[in-house]
Amino acid sequence: MSETITDPKSFLQKYDGPEIRIMEVCGTHTHEIFRQGVRRILSPKIRLISGPGCPVCVTPVSYIDEAVYLALEKGCTITTFGDLVRVPGSKMSLAGARAEGANIKVVYSPADAEKYAEEHPEEQVVFLSVGFETTTPTDVIAVKKALNAGIDNFSILTANKTMPGAYDAMASSCDAYIYPGHVHAIIGTKICEDELAKGVSGVVTGFTGDEIITALAIIVKKFSEGKPFFVNAYPRVVTAEGSPAAVAMVDKFMQPCDADWRGIGVIPDSGMELRDEYAAYDARKKYAIPSLNGEYKTACRCGEVLQGKIEPNQCPLFGKACNPDHPIGACMVSGEGACSAFYMYGGEI
Ligand code: SF4
Repeated sequence: MSETITDPKSFLQKYDGPEIRIMEVCGTHTHEIFRQGVRRILSPKIRLISGPGCPVCVTPVSYIDEAVYLALEKGCTITTFGDLVRVPGSKMSLAGARAEGANIKVVYSPADAEKYAEEHPEEQVVFLSVGFETTTPTDVIAVKKALNAGIDNFSILTANKTMPGAYDAMASSCDAYIYPGHVHAIIGTKICEDELAKGVSGVVTGFTGDEIITALAIIVKKFSEGKPFFVNAYPRVVTAEGSPAAVAMVDKFMQPCDADWRGIGVIPDSGMELRDEYAAYDARKKYAIPSLNGEYKTACRCGEVLQGKIEPNQCPLFGKACNPDHPIGACMVSGEGACSAFYMYGGEI
């Protein structure tokens, strides 16, 4: 398909067909689209929506409350990627918990967290396991390593999510998806074919500016033809079967569960949790965390941003009360979040 579009940039600039809404569902795509100034070259008839693919952005308030509970009430050492530390919970963020004496350690991988637990047997170490199909295998590997080494002071608090449920839930918000290449390198493209059978269109692509622009051109051209479509524009990395070994490993340790997506709500079977036989490594079970119905009462409109109902700068707090130094909502915390990217790269539409 791409061969028939000799100059994708010019094609996208000159497009004058029906209006089209395209959702990139991956935070890495969001970041690259802003960084490369892709929005600037698009015809006004093409609208990009930054969807729910930033794991920090969709992590619900109740999850932060659970982590704060473990840190302050159970005295656990929380190990986490840095972005999550500043995400607001109902009462406080993990940074707030740290100010109250909690032990919050920033790590760069779940393997680091497991190693920390191994080196600090006197501490109860919990790793905040958030992310999509791309990172879940590494979380599982950390659990497997702890299990094999007999490390019993390590567990994970799961908020792992899977994309297919989100594709269904967000389908009415856009005309086509830019599917994330790294997710489909793991799960393959059958799910995209299944979506196509339901009338949902999309193109799998990689993460360079050229790859994204080519994918957009394919989407716009196919959309103009008036029929649902799916194209794998990243065949050097993504195959129909994906990575069966990674899928099998995750499946051995984890099972699907309903998951709450910040701003969107509960999507059935869109999460992953440890199977019962690994309950000793499941912080939620190990510490019998009570049900925490997290509520975050602010004017933050992350949910509407994630669904493309508003642009970040239409939120009244954008750039004023809410900025990367003082984020009010999760979409401003993570560099992959739409509000943060919008702010960082000048708020271009
Ligand atoms: Fe939420 Fe801030 Fe984005 Fe507004 S600008 S939607 S408060 S993250």
